[in-house]
Amino acid sequence: MYRTNTCGELRIAHLNREVILAGWVHKARKFGGMIFVDLRDRYGITQLVFNQETDSQLCEKAEKLGREWVIQVKGVVAERSNKNPNIPTGDIEITVSELQTLNPSETPPFTIETDTDGGDDLRMKYRYLDLRRKAVYSNLELRHQMAFAARSYLNQQQFLEVETPVMVGSTPEGARDFIVPSRMNPGEFYALPQSPQLFKQLLMVSGLDRYFQIVKCFRDEDLRADRQPEFTQIDCEMSFVEQEDILNLFEGLIRHLFKTIKGTDIPEMPRMTYAEAMKLYGSDKPDTRFTMPFTELKTLTGGKNFGVFDNAEYVGAICAEGCAAYTRKQMDELTDFVKRPQIGAGGLVYVRYEADGGVKSSVDKFYTPDDLKRWLEQAGGRPGDLLLILCGAAGKTRKQLGELRLEMGSRLGLRDKDRFSCLWMLDFPLLEFDEETNRYYAMHHPFTSPKREDVPLLDADPAAVRANAYDMVINGAEVGGGSIRIHDSDLQRKMFTLLGFTEAQAQAQFGFLMNAFKYGAPPHGGIAFGLDRLVSVFAGLDSIRDCIAFPKNNSGRDVMIDAPASVSSEQLEELRLMVRE
Ligand code: ASP
Repeated sequence: MYRTNTCGELRIAHLNREVILAGWVHKARKFGGMIFVDLRDRYGITQLVFNQETDSQLCEKAEKLGREWVIQVKGVVAERSNKNPNIPTGDIEITVSELQTLNPSETPPFTIETDTDGGDDLRMKYRYLDLRRKAVYSNLELRHQMAFAARSYLNQQQFLEVETPVMVGSTPEGARDFIVPSRMNPGEFYALPQSPQLFKQLLMVSGLDRYFQIVKCFRDEDLRADRQPEFTQIDCEMSFVEQEDILNLFEGLIRHLFKTIKGTDIPEMPRMTYAEAMKLYGSDKPDTRFTMPFTELKTLTGGKNFGVFDNAEYVGAICAEGCAAYTRKQMDELTDFVKRPQIGAGGLVYVRYEADGGVKSSVDKFYTPDDLKRWLEQAGGRPGDLLLILCGAAGKTRKQLGELRLEMGSRLGLRDKDRFSCLWMLDFPLLEFDEETNRYYAMHHPFTSPKREDVPLLDADPAAVRANAYDMVINGAEVGGGSIRIHDSDLQRKMFTLLGFTEAQAQAQFGFLMNAFKYGAPPHGGIAFGLDRLVSVFAGLDSIRDCIAFPKNNSGRDVMIDAPASVSSEQLEELRLMVRE
């Protein structure tokens, strides 16, 4: 038997019990005639003590132990004279009588502590050592608990977990595909799925009624902190449902996760339309832990010969509570923030509502104090507040103001990681027009159904058609999204035409789906949650990387196994990707 207990288990109640423990040497120190070793495993740390007086040979052996050696000890649980209230096992220690080295270790390249001395690159290269740190593996524990709770909820709701293929065909919509050459079909390629979208819809045609899968998806996109080339979805689909049914059932899933993981009851989720969100927050995933909505000032700012505002399509403001006393330096920081290339504003206009009721502004050459007060009033400002104003083309400026709003939220400490604000985002536009390629793209995906009442607009004004699509947003992160699908092959064909597919192209790419729809496709819809993102929101992490066991770095590389890597010319020849000279 390797062990009778784990390193996180023993308490004062186990006093005098003989135990066997196994684990890693976390730390060892000599103190007078004693050697203390912190023995660590996933469950915790237990202090071992070796006494020179009672067994000098054993002590000699213990003295040789190095960090991260794997050892096994036999001993008796004793009460510690010097208790450690910071760890659950801090009242006891093991008086060791036998010690066996199971495997020595080289000195690790960084310390296995919460505050490690290893930089990002080093920790990624030795990820298996990084994962020994509690701060890292506890994210994996959380991830496991969340996946487990999601499975249990969906199982209770009659969902069947069905596996769909990982080697599929490439589709032109959405992101870029990762492709896999087929040796047996020279010159032909599989693609890795961006999501199991078509398969789950086909499962509805098959009558499975309720499907889910915790599934890897692959997208060859440029990476950011919240993106990985492979990521995991909790992917779901249901038959005979309307939007309302889906919102209720999956609000229930998230409620179940909050209850089981955090022990909290979340309030009913508010719903916001896309149009409203863009107007108030300049974002379809607003962080609603704080309000600070936009105020439109275009009508109040006109006609005073301030060309910058007069010529702008949009003039919008946010009111930062209690910030009137911002220093020159703080104002400069904010101006630099909005002028950064990633944000791209031309400049920042401010109005200070001084505590004594006076106003000061960067544009008071053009506007009277009464003018400025009217703006402040419109924005609900009170003495002591600061109005921050951006102007320009409506869409772009709203986005910039949205970024500034988040920045102010952070500066004012309004984005507490332990507070959660969830909402449903509804009524997305069905289509987006892309100037560059001069065509419409599906905002969600081409299988999303338009709102019934907007179908007549499909020919006359496609841009005005709203989709039966919804996103769930928590703390400013889109954690899930889905839609009611088209289940009628004529409407689906029409959608492909709108998206610029010829009949032949649509047939070649999606013929199997339109064909399937001819054989009794039920009305259906679904949703997919990003598991990585959901876990990182629950854990309050800045990057999804921290809740993935073996993530890729910013260039899509796994630096531990060194992938991607070149392959031999024999392999390439076999795949007909290289022809012998
Ligand atoms: N397949 C979609 C996605 O990956 C989700 C859905 O519509 O269910 O975003």
